[in-house]
Amino acid sequence: MAEDWKGKPDSYWREKLTAEQYRVMREKGTEAPWAGVLVDNHDDGMYRCMACGQELFSSETKFESNSGWPSFYDVAAEGHVELHEDNTLGMKRTEVTCARCGAHLGHVFDDGPADKTGQRYCINSCALDFEGKK
Ligand code: FE
Repeated sequence: MAEDWKGKPDSYWREKLTAEQYRVMREKGTEAPWAGVLVDNHDDGMYRCMACGQELFSSETKFESNSGWPSFYDVAAEGHVELHEDNTLGMKRTEVTCARCGAHLGHVFDDGPADKTGQRYCINSCALDFEGKK
């Protein structure tokens, strides 16, 4: 049977994640812009979910958004993220979560590169675990 990532108790995440990762991924927080170590990462590889390891974004779709957060114009594979309407903070946004463990990742906006998908997945660096190509 597949591991029940969404059924894990809060205590599991408290132990597994750092305080900042927990605040972002379990409490839907946002890291400070330009604070994340992966904002300026240009290496080839795969960005996985820091909580469960699911493949989320490929370096091939990463682009410079100048937002201060790692930005991608597409997901690594269909069904690997889930989208949710988010009307908090007086804004109408679309939240992005990991489809496997439910962790909050960031938001997606429709001001991405027009010559690609037009989408901008604005993702917290601390929610991503980068695995460089060997
Ligand atoms: Fe996950």
